[in-house]
Amino acid sequence: MKKSLGKVYLVGAGPGDPGLLTLRGKELLERAQVVIYDALIDAALLRHAPSAEHIFVGKRPDRHRLPQEDINRLMVEQAKLAACVVRLKGGDPFVFGRGGEEAVALSEAGVPFEVVPGVTAGLGAAAYAGIPITQRGITDRVTFIMGHRSKSAGRSGSLYGGGKPRLEELPRKGTLVFYMGVDAIEENMDAIHTSGRSLDTPVAVVEWGTLPRQRTIVGTVETIAGQCADAGIDAPAIIVVGEVVELSKKLSWFEARPLFGRRVAVTRTRERAAELVGLLQERGADVLEFPTVEIERPEPQVPLAPLSDYDWVVLTSVNGVDALFEGMAASGQDARDLHGVKLCAISAKTVEALSDRLLRVDVVPERYETEFVVQRLEEHDRASNRGSGISGKRILMPRADIGRSSLPKALRERGAEVDELQAYRTVIPRDAEAQAGELLRYAPHYVTFGSAVSVRNFREILGADRIAQLSGMDARSCHTRYAAIGPIAEVAAKEAGISIDIIPEVHRVPELVEAIVRFDAGGRAWPPKNEERP
Ligand code: SAH
Repeated sequence: MKKSLGKVYLVGAGPGDPGLLTLRGKELLERAQVVIYDALIDAALLRHAPSAEHIFVGKRPDRHRLPQEDINRLMVEQAKLAACVVRLKGGDPFVFGRGGEEAVALSEAGVPFEVVPGVTAGLGAAAYAGIPITQRGITDRVTFIMGHRSKSAGRSGSLYGGGKPRLEELPRKGTLVFYMGVDAIEENMDAIHTSGRSLDTPVAVVEWGTLPRQRTIVGTVETIAGQCADAGIDAPAIIVVGEVVELSKKLSWFEARPLFGRRVAVTRTRERAAELVGLLQERGADVLEFPTVEIERPEPQVPLAPLSDYDWVVLTSVNGVDALFEGMAASGQDARDLHGVKLCAISAKTVEALSDRLLRVDVVPERYETEFVVQRLEEHDRASNRGSGISGKRILMPRADIGRSSLPKALRERGAEVDELQAYRTVIPRDAEAQAGELLRYAPHYVTFGSAVSVRNFREILGADRIAQLSGMDARSCHTRYAAIGPIAEVAAKEAGISIDIIPEVHRVPELVEAIVRFDAGGRAWPPKNEERP
């Protein structure tokens, strides 16, 4: 019996922004056993297929891309081995991407296939540059063209077939969108002019469209080549030609976001980084996750005492909440055992984690400062217990081993009996050293700290020398600025020899982001946005 073949899905990955993948594309990546992908595919997309085999067939710095025939053969071979093979291609698979050739090869080999369209770079980059490629009253047509490529780019296959440009084939009306056209931008502009358009015709070049490093240069047929050379514009870039380009002055929304062009490194654990990363990206920042902390849960050594023995549980983090419930489960207790126990939670996130478990918190100190917390506990206990205060009370604190909190000590000094539940351990991630190299190359404008331990580990991973290097990274007086979510992290930073420039009044993630935005808008001695990395 003939073995049944798998299916190959030619999936458009979109132009760069991982959010522009289609739902169908995401669904297929999640199902795929094999993903065959090109250069320029964002790593975030491959994360939709964590258990699939990822095969890279794009161009690497040290060698050419795999010849097309080999890619075709590879797809057919993989279809014999796997039920779901995703061939992930930049933009749309059928727009200048040789996806058509790949589909023909599959068809000829009798391999079943499907095509999932994607947002092509010409549409994506224009939209993110604020250029509507058609506009009522301005133009009613648009042409996608494969640009004329320089000799050094090799290969025929340009619109002009590698020989002399066939200028007469350029339409004289409507918007022109050139792909692969920046290598030989001068020739392309000559061709446009010779085809009958004026030298004043507006032109935009959008480099790395839809990505945080997008740059848009606007000029005319006459000026654009020089402007691109000055700015060092390189592939991948889209060239848009026509009157619609003028609209970008009004509509450039993407590059106008306040943190656009700023590189921000986020030092939270991966699990807890999502909110901060999302908000920073929303404000336009390019974000690098640099997790300095990993949570390790030790096996519970001592079973948790019955919760009814305690008067208070004091929780200082979401991890502490998780650990409390794990400890309860491991010792055969359930939520009812918290009956009558008072809860104190530090930070809005901790309160939220408890409220997710239908637990209302009795005391939420506005600030996480030892004396303040003790005082709030005292006050609450007095108010509800007719003056007894916390002396003699039993308090459970699930917390990290290296929390270095002075809170248990202070509570004990007031006569409370404090049990610390060794909730979790924070460790330095194993790949931290490799990440550190990446961080230095990244040259962040800002580094954010969400906890004292993230600061201490940052210091330990990088060491004083490399921190100094970060600070003086850019000869043009740019240096990395540090933002801390609250005073605890700030104190830890001071101890680590790192000075904090930004600290929000309310110690929460959205306020931290807004504090960075305000600081950035304050016009510090920054170089122009999206300058080349040192
Ligand atoms: N199939 C792809 C195009 C592949 S050809 C698509 O539909 O988008 C490669 C060319 O696409 C590049 O030379 C460049 O002109 C353009 N391109 C791809 N990604 C781009 C991006 N993020 N920004 C600007 N141009 C891009």
